[in-house]
Amino acid sequence: MQFVDLLAQHRSIQVSLDAAIAHVVEHSSFIRGPHVEAFEQGFAQMMGAKHCISCGNGTDALYIAMRALGLEAGDEVITTAHSWIATSETITQAGGQVVFCDTEPNCFCLDPLQIESKITPRTRGIIAVHLYGQPADMSAIMALAKAYDLWVIEDAAQAHLAAMDGQLVGRFGDVATFSFYPGKNLGAMGDAGCLVTDRQDVADFARLFARHGGKNNHQIEGINSRMDGLQAAVLNVKMPHLEGWTRAREALAQRYDSMLAELPQVITPTVRSGCRHVYHLYVIRVPQRDALQAYLAELYIPTVINYPQALPFYPAYARLGHKPVDFPVAFQHAQEILSLPMHPFLSQQDQERVVEGIRAFYAQPVSIAFEEGS
Ligand SMILES: *Cc1c(COP(=O)(O)O)cnc(C)c1O
Repeated sequence: MQFVDLLAQHRSIQVSLDAAIAHVVEHSSFIRGPHVEAFEQGFAQMMGAKHCISCGNGTDALYIAMRALGLEAGDEVITTAHSWIATSETITQAGGQVVFCDTEPNCFCLDPLQIESKITPRTRGIIAVHLYGQPADMSAIMALAKAYDLWVIEDAAQAHLAAMDGQLVGRFGDVATFSFYPGKNLGAMGDAGCLVTDRQDVADFARLFARHGGKNNHQIEGINSRMDGLQAAVLNVKMPHLEGWTRAREALAQRYDSMLAELPQVITPTVRSGCRHVYHLYVIRVPQRDALQAYLAELYIPTVINYPQALPFYPAYARLGHKPVDFPVAFQHAQEILSLPMHPFLSQQDQERVVEGIRAFYAQPVSIAFEEGS
Protein backbone atom coordinates (compact mmCIF):
# COMPACT_ATOMS: atom_id res chain seq x y z
CA MET A 1 0.00 0.00 0.00
CA GLN A 2 1.26 3.46 -0.83
CA PHE A 3 0.41 6.78 0.77
CA VAL A 4 0.00 8.30 -2.71
CA ASP A 5 0.10 6.02 -5.76
CA LEU A 6 1.18 8.09 -8.76
CA LEU A 7 2.06 5.04 -10.86
CA ALA A 8 -1.54 3.78 -10.70
CA GLN A 9 -2.74 7.21 -11.81
CA HIS A 10 -0.28 7.36 -14.69
CA ARG A 11 -1.07 3.84 -15.88
CA SER A 12 -4.73 4.77 -16.09
CA ILE A 13 -3.91 7.46 -18.70
CA GLN A 14 -0.68 6.01 -20.07
CA VAL A 15 -1.48 6.23 -23.80
CA SER A 16 -2.47 9.90 -23.70
CA LEU A 17 0.49 10.78 -21.49
CA ASP A 18 2.95 9.05 -23.83
CA ALA A 19 1.50 10.85 -26.85
CA ALA A 20 1.59 14.24 -25.14
CA ILE A 21 5.18 13.79 -24.00
CA ALA A 22 6.24 12.59 -27.48
CA HIS A 23 4.64 15.70 -28.97
CA VAL A 24 6.70 17.96 -26.72
CA VAL A 25 9.88 16.13 -27.67
CA GLU A 26 9.13 16.18 -31.40
CA HIS A 27 8.47 19.92 -31.36
CA SER A 28 11.18 20.76 -28.82
CA SER A 29 8.61 22.90 -27.02
CA PHE A 30 10.41 22.58 -23.71
CA ILE A 31 9.99 26.04 -22.23
CA ARG A 32 6.57 27.69 -22.63
CA GLY A 33 5.15 27.04 -26.14
CA PRO A 34 1.76 25.68 -27.22
CA HIS A 35 1.25 23.24 -24.35
CA VAL A 36 1.84 25.97 -21.79
CA GLU A 37 -0.55 28.32 -23.60
CA ALA A 38 -3.18 25.59 -23.74
CA PHE A 39 -2.67 24.94 -20.05
CA GLU A 40 -3.14 28.59 -19.10
CA GLN A 41 -6.32 28.81 -21.16
CA GLY A 42 -7.67 25.50 -19.89
CA PHE A 43 -6.99 26.23 -16.25
CA ALA A 44 -8.43 29.74 -16.44
CA GLN A 45 -11.54 28.26 -18.04
CA MET A 46 -11.87 25.52 -15.43
CA MET A 47 -11.56 28.15 -12.72
CA GLY A 48 -13.84 30.66 -14.44
CA ALA A 49 -11.06 33.24 -14.03
CA LYS A 50 -9.90 35.97 -16.40
CA HIS A 51 -6.20 35.20 -16.10
CA CYS A 52 -4.01 32.20 -15.38
CA ILE A 53 -0.27 32.83 -15.28
CA SER A 54 1.83 29.67 -15.18
CA CYS A 55 5.09 29.57 -13.27
CA GLY A 56 7.78 27.24 -11.96
CA ASN A 57 6.06 25.98 -8.80
CA GLY A 58 3.50 26.87 -6.14
CA THR A 59 6.07 28.61 -3.95
CA ASP A 60 7.07 30.96 -6.75
CA ALA A 61 3.37 31.61 -7.39
CA LEU A 62 3.03 32.98 -3.83
CA TYR A 63 6.15 35.12 -4.17
CA ILE A 64 5.10 36.47 -7.57
CA ALA A 65 1.61 37.21 -6.23
CA MET A 66 2.98 39.31 -3.37
CA ARG A 67 5.34 41.20 -5.65
CA ALA A 68 2.43 41.81 -8.03
CA LEU A 69 0.35 43.13 -5.15
CA GLY A 70 3.12 45.65 -4.44
CA LEU A 71 4.29 44.37 -1.06
CA GLU A 72 6.92 46.71 0.36
CA ALA A 73 9.65 46.32 2.96
CA GLY A 74 8.16 46.13 6.43
CA ASP A 75 4.60 45.47 5.29
CA GLU A 76 2.84 42.89 7.44
CA VAL A 77 1.02 39.89 6.06
CA ILE A 78 -1.22 37.74 8.25
CA THR A 79 -1.24 34.02 7.64
CA THR A 80 -2.03 30.73 9.29
CA ALA A 81 0.18 29.06 11.87
CA HIS A 82 -0.61 25.68 10.32
CA SER A 83 0.63 25.19 6.75
CA TRP A 84 3.57 24.20 4.61
CA ILE A 85 6.38 26.73 5.03
CA ALA A 86 6.04 27.98 1.43
CA THR A 87 3.09 30.05 2.64
CA SER A 88 5.12 32.06 5.12
CA GLU A 89 8.69 31.98 3.76
CA THR A 90 7.57 33.80 0.61
CA ILE A 91 6.23 36.69 2.72
CA THR A 92 9.75 37.24 4.02
CA GLN A 93 11.27 36.80 0.55
CA ALA A 94 8.90 39.44 -0.82
CA GLY A 95 10.17 41.84 1.85
CA GLY A 96 7.26 41.51 4.26
CA GLN A 97 6.87 40.60 7.91
CA VAL A 98 5.17 37.31 8.72
CA VAL A 99 2.35 37.64 11.24
CA PHE A 100 1.06 34.23 12.26
CA CYS A 101 -2.51 33.64 13.33
CA ASP A 102 -4.01 30.61 15.07
CA THR A 103 -6.30 28.09 13.39
CA GLU A 104 -9.87 26.88 13.85
CA PRO A 105 -10.43 24.12 16.42
CA ASN A 106 -12.17 21.84 13.90
CA CYS A 107 -11.20 22.82 10.36
CA PHE A 108 -7.40 23.37 10.59
CA CYS A 109 -7.71 26.68 8.65
CA LEU A 110 -6.94 30.31 9.54
CA ASP A 111 -9.39 31.33 12.28
CA PRO A 112 -11.24 34.49 11.18
CA LEU A 113 -12.07 35.27 14.82
CA GLN A 114 -8.35 35.66 15.58
CA ILE A 115 -7.42 37.78 12.57
CA GLU A 116 -8.70 41.15 13.73
CA SER A 117 -6.42 41.28 16.76
CA LYS A 118 -3.42 40.82 14.43
CA ILE A 119 -4.24 43.78 12.19
CA THR A 120 -2.02 46.86 12.58
CA PRO A 121 -1.56 50.00 10.45
CA ARG A 122 1.21 48.07 8.59
CA THR A 123 -0.98 45.12 7.63
CA ARG A 124 -1.37 44.86 3.86
CA GLY A 125 -2.87 41.47 3.27
CA ILE A 126 -3.98 38.03 4.38
CA ILE A 127 -2.90 34.67 2.97
CA ALA A 128 -5.58 32.06 3.58
CA VAL A 129 -4.66 28.42 3.01
CA HIS A 130 -7.27 25.84 2.05
CA LEU A 131 -5.44 23.28 4.10
CA TYR A 132 -5.72 19.57 3.23
CA GLY A 133 -8.34 20.51 0.60
CA GLN A 134 -10.82 22.14 2.98
CA PRO A 135 -11.85 25.71 2.09
CA ALA A 136 -10.83 28.35 4.63
CA ASP A 137 -13.77 30.43 5.84
CA MET A 138 -13.62 32.79 2.87
CA SER A 139 -16.83 34.68 3.54
CA ALA A 140 -15.59 35.79 6.97
CA ILE A 141 -12.04 36.44 5.71
CA MET A 142 -13.22 38.51 2.73
CA ALA A 143 -15.50 40.55 5.01
CA LEU A 144 -12.53 41.41 7.23
CA ALA A 145 -10.33 42.21 4.23
CA LYS A 146 -12.97 44.56 2.91
CA ALA A 147 -13.43 46.29 6.26
CA TYR A 148 -9.68 46.89 6.64
CA ASP A 149 -8.80 47.38 2.96
CA LEU A 150 -6.46 44.39 2.77
CA TRP A 151 -5.70 42.16 -0.18
CA VAL A 152 -6.25 38.42 0.06
CA ILE A 153 -4.20 35.63 -1.49
CA GLU A 154 -5.71 32.16 -1.46
CA ASP A 155 -3.05 29.47 -1.23
CA ALA A 156 -4.97 26.76 -3.06
CA ALA A 157 -2.00 24.41 -3.49
CA GLN A 158 -3.96 21.60 -1.83
CA ALA A 159 -7.44 22.53 -2.96
CA HIS A 160 -8.02 22.25 -6.73
CA LEU A 161 -11.83 22.20 -7.24
CA ALA A 162 -12.67 22.72 -3.57
CA ALA A 163 -15.62 25.09 -3.19
CA MET A 164 -17.56 27.14 -0.69
CA ASP A 165 -21.21 28.08 -1.17
CA GLY A 166 -21.00 26.88 -4.77
CA GLN A 167 -17.97 29.01 -5.62
CA LEU A 168 -14.58 27.44 -6.37
CA VAL A 169 -11.79 28.32 -3.98
CA GLY A 170 -9.38 30.60 -5.77
CA ARG A 171 -12.28 32.83 -6.82
CA PHE A 172 -12.67 34.74 -3.54
CA GLY A 173 -9.42 36.64 -3.06
CA ASP A 174 -7.43 39.06 -5.23
CA VAL A 175 -5.16 36.21 -6.35
CA ALA A 176 -5.04 32.47 -5.87
CA THR A 177 -1.96 30.31 -6.16
CA PHE A 178 -1.80 26.65 -7.14
CA SER A 179 0.90 24.00 -6.98
CA PHE A 180 1.18 21.09 -9.38
CA TYR A 181 3.81 19.25 -7.37
CA PRO A 182 3.41 15.57 -8.41
CA GLY A 183 1.50 14.53 -5.28
CA LYS A 184 -0.99 17.41 -5.37
CA ASN A 185 -4.56 16.68 -6.51
CA LEU A 186 -3.56 17.88 -9.99
CA GLY A 187 0.12 16.99 -10.30
CA ALA A 188 2.79 17.33 -12.97
CA MET A 189 5.85 15.08 -13.40
CA GLY A 190 8.07 17.66 -11.77
CA ASP A 191 7.61 21.16 -10.40
CA ALA A 192 4.92 23.48 -11.76
CA GLY A 193 2.55 26.14 -10.44
CA CYS A 194 0.30 29.00 -11.42
CA LEU A 195 -1.58 32.09 -10.28
CA VAL A 196 -5.19 32.84 -11.04
CA THR A 197 -6.71 36.31 -10.86
CA ASP A 198 -9.34 38.59 -12.35
CA ARG A 199 -7.20 41.68 -11.70
CA GLN A 200 -5.60 42.96 -14.89
CA ASP A 201 -2.86 44.87 -13.00
CA VAL A 202 -1.84 41.79 -11.04
CA ALA A 203 -1.88 39.58 -14.16
CA ASP A 204 0.19 42.06 -16.18
CA PHE A 205 2.80 42.44 -13.46
CA ALA A 206 2.99 38.71 -12.74
CA ARG A 207 3.52 37.87 -16.43
CA LEU A 208 6.32 40.41 -16.74
CA PHE A 209 7.94 39.64 -13.41
CA ALA A 210 8.00 35.85 -13.81
CA ARG A 211 9.65 36.23 -17.22
CA HIS A 212 12.64 38.48 -16.60
CA GLY A 213 10.56 41.64 -16.72
CA GLY A 214 9.51 41.14 -20.33
CA LYS A 215 11.12 39.60 -23.35
CA ASN A 216 13.63 41.80 -25.24
CA ASN A 217 12.26 44.98 -23.72
CA HIS A 218 12.90 44.47 -20.00
CA GLN A 219 10.61 46.91 -18.22
CA ILE A 220 11.51 45.74 -14.73
CA GLU A 221 13.94 43.29 -13.18
CA GLY A 222 12.14 40.02 -12.74
CA ILE A 223 12.84 36.40 -12.00
CA ASN A 224 12.91 33.24 -14.08
CA SER A 225 9.86 31.19 -13.14
CA ARG A 226 8.40 29.35 -16.11
CA MET A 227 6.32 26.23 -16.53
CA ASP A 228 8.03 23.87 -18.91
CA GLY A 229 6.34 22.26 -21.88
CA LEU A 230 6.53 18.71 -20.56
CA GLN A 231 4.78 19.68 -17.34
CA ALA A 232 2.09 21.60 -19.21
CA ALA A 233 1.51 18.68 -21.60
CA VAL A 234 1.13 16.29 -18.64
CA LEU A 235 -1.23 18.69 -16.85
CA ASN A 236 -3.35 19.11 -19.99
CA VAL A 237 -3.84 15.34 -20.17
CA LYS A 238 -4.71 15.12 -16.48
CA MET A 239 -6.97 18.19 -16.16
CA PRO A 240 -10.11 16.54 -17.66
CA HIS A 241 -9.74 13.71 -15.11
CA LEU A 242 -9.52 15.99 -12.08
CA GLU A 243 -13.25 16.06 -11.37
CA GLY A 244 -13.49 12.25 -11.47
CA TRP A 245 -10.41 11.83 -9.29
CA THR A 246 -11.81 14.36 -6.84
CA ARG A 247 -15.07 12.39 -6.60
CA ALA A 248 -13.05 9.25 -5.93
CA ARG A 249 -11.29 11.08 -3.06
CA GLU A 250 -14.65 12.23 -1.67
CA ALA A 251 -16.05 8.68 -1.80
CA LEU A 252 -12.95 7.30 -0.06
CA ALA A 253 -13.21 9.98 2.61
CA GLN A 254 -16.84 9.06 3.25
CA ARG A 255 -15.85 5.42 3.66
CA TYR A 256 -13.08 6.35 6.07
CA ASP A 257 -15.57 8.57 7.96
CA SER A 258 -18.10 5.79 8.38
CA MET A 259 -15.60 3.05 9.22
CA LEU A 260 -13.73 5.25 11.71
CA ALA A 261 -16.96 6.41 13.35
CA GLU A 262 -16.88 3.14 15.31
CA LEU A 263 -13.58 4.09 16.95
CA PRO A 264 -14.19 6.60 19.75
CA GLN A 265 -10.49 7.57 19.91
CA VAL A 266 -10.45 8.90 16.37
CA ILE A 267 -11.62 12.39 15.37
CA THR A 268 -12.36 12.38 11.64
CA PRO A 269 -12.17 15.55 9.49
CA THR A 270 -14.92 18.13 9.92
CA VAL A 271 -16.26 19.58 6.68
CA ARG A 272 -17.34 23.20 6.97
CA SER A 273 -21.02 23.56 6.11
CA GLY A 274 -21.62 24.57 2.50
CA CYS A 275 -18.14 23.43 1.52
CA ARG A 276 -16.64 20.90 -0.84
CA HIS A 277 -13.56 19.39 0.81
CA VAL A 278 -11.35 17.76 -1.86
CA TYR A 279 -9.25 15.66 0.54
CA HIS A 280 -5.77 16.35 -0.71
CA LEU A 281 -5.07 14.76 2.65
CA TYR A 282 -7.36 12.79 4.96
CA VAL A 283 -6.22 13.89 8.40
CA ILE A 284 -7.48 12.37 11.63
CA ARG A 285 -6.76 13.49 15.19
CA VAL A 286 -5.83 10.79 17.67
CA PRO A 287 -4.38 10.23 21.13
CA GLN A 288 -0.96 8.50 21.30
CA ARG A 289 -0.38 9.55 17.72
CA ASP A 290 3.32 8.64 17.50
CA ALA A 291 2.76 5.16 18.94
CA LEU A 292 -0.12 4.61 16.52
CA GLN A 293 2.02 5.71 13.59
CA ALA A 294 4.83 3.33 14.60
CA TYR A 295 2.31 0.49 15.06
CA LEU A 296 0.86 1.08 11.58
CA ALA A 297 4.34 1.26 10.05
CA GLU A 298 5.04 -2.26 11.35
CA LEU A 299 1.95 -3.38 9.47
CA TYR A 300 3.32 -1.66 6.32
CA ILE A 301 0.59 0.97 6.50
CA PRO A 302 2.18 4.30 5.50
CA THR A 303 1.04 7.48 7.24
CA VAL A 304 2.42 11.03 7.28
CA ILE A 305 2.34 13.93 9.73
CA ASN A 306 1.42 17.11 7.89
CA TYR A 307 3.08 18.89 9.61
CA PRO A 308 5.21 17.88 12.60
CA GLN A 309 5.11 21.37 14.09
CA ALA A 310 3.08 24.52 13.63
CA LEU A 311 5.09 27.04 11.59
CA PRO A 312 5.87 29.53 14.41
CA PHE A 313 7.70 26.82 16.35
CA TYR A 314 10.25 25.81 13.72
CA PRO A 315 13.82 27.10 14.12
CA ALA A 316 13.21 29.22 10.99
CA TYR A 317 10.94 31.45 13.09
CA ALA A 318 12.86 31.39 16.37
CA ARG A 319 13.44 35.12 15.80
CA LEU A 320 9.76 35.75 16.46
CA GLY A 321 10.05 34.19 19.91
CA HIS A 322 6.65 32.51 19.85
CA LYS A 323 5.41 30.18 22.57
CA PRO A 324 2.74 27.45 22.42
CA VAL A 325 0.26 29.71 24.25
CA ASP A 326 0.42 32.14 21.31
CA PHE A 327 -1.13 29.54 18.98
CA PRO A 328 -2.74 26.98 21.27
CA VAL A 329 -4.92 25.34 18.62
CA ALA A 330 -2.21 24.90 15.98
CA PHE A 331 0.20 23.73 18.68
CA GLN A 332 -2.25 21.12 19.98
CA HIS A 333 -3.16 19.87 16.49
CA ALA A 334 0.49 19.26 15.64
CA GLN A 335 0.59 16.63 18.43
CA GLU A 336 -2.59 14.87 17.26
CA ILE A 337 -2.75 14.89 13.48
CA LEU A 338 -2.12 11.87 11.28
CA SER A 339 -2.64 11.71 7.50
CA LEU A 340 -3.94 8.35 6.28
CA PRO A 341 -3.29 6.93 2.80
CA MET A 342 -5.42 8.92 0.33
CA HIS A 343 -5.35 8.96 -3.48
CA PRO A 344 -7.99 8.27 -6.14
CA PHE A 345 -6.71 4.74 -6.77
CA LEU A 346 -6.73 3.53 -3.15
CA SER A 347 -8.58 0.21 -2.99
CA GLN A 348 -11.34 -0.59 -0.50
CA GLN A 349 -9.29 -3.53 0.79
CA ASP A 350 -6.37 -1.23 1.56
CA GLN A 351 -8.71 1.22 3.26
CA GLU A 352 -10.08 -1.60 5.39
CA ARG A 353 -6.54 -2.64 6.32
CA VAL A 354 -5.80 0.92 7.48
CA VAL A 355 -8.88 1.03 9.68
CA GLU A 356 -8.24 -2.50 11.01
CA GLY A 357 -4.72 -1.42 11.95
CA ILE A 358 -6.02 1.58 13.88
CA ARG A 359 -8.69 -0.56 15.58
CA ALA A 360 -6.09 -3.16 16.60
CA PHE A 361 -3.82 -0.48 18.07
CA TYR A 362 -6.52 0.90 20.36
CA ALA A 363 -7.74 -2.61 21.25
CA GLN A 364 -4.40 -3.40 22.93
CA PRO A 365 -4.38 -3.63 26.72
CA VAL A 366 -4.03 -0.09 28.06
CA SER A 367 -0.66 -0.85 29.70
CA ILE A 368 0.95 -1.87 26.40
CA ALA A 369 -0.49 1.04 24.48
CA PHE A 370 0.61 3.37 27.24
CA GLU A 371 4.18 2.07 27.29
CA GLU A 372 4.51 2.47 23.55
CA GLY A 373 3.12 5.93 23.69
CA SER A 374 5.31 7.12 26.52
C1 LIG B 1 2.68 22.37 -2.00
C2 LIG B 1 2.35 23.64 -1.31
C3 LIG B 1 2.93 24.86 -1.66
C4 LIG B 1 4.11 24.98 -2.57
O1 LIG B 1 4.02 24.40 -3.78
P1 LIG B 1 5.35 23.90 -4.55
O2 LIG B 1 4.82 23.64 -5.93
O3 LIG B 1 5.82 22.67 -3.87
O4 LIG B 1 6.34 25.00 -4.51
C5 LIG B 1 2.46 26.02 -1.05
N1 LIG B 1 1.50 25.96 -0.12
C6 LIG B 1 0.94 24.81 0.27
C7 LIG B 1 -0.14 24.84 1.31
C8 LIG B 1 1.35 23.60 -0.29
O5 LIG B 1 0.79 22.45 0.11
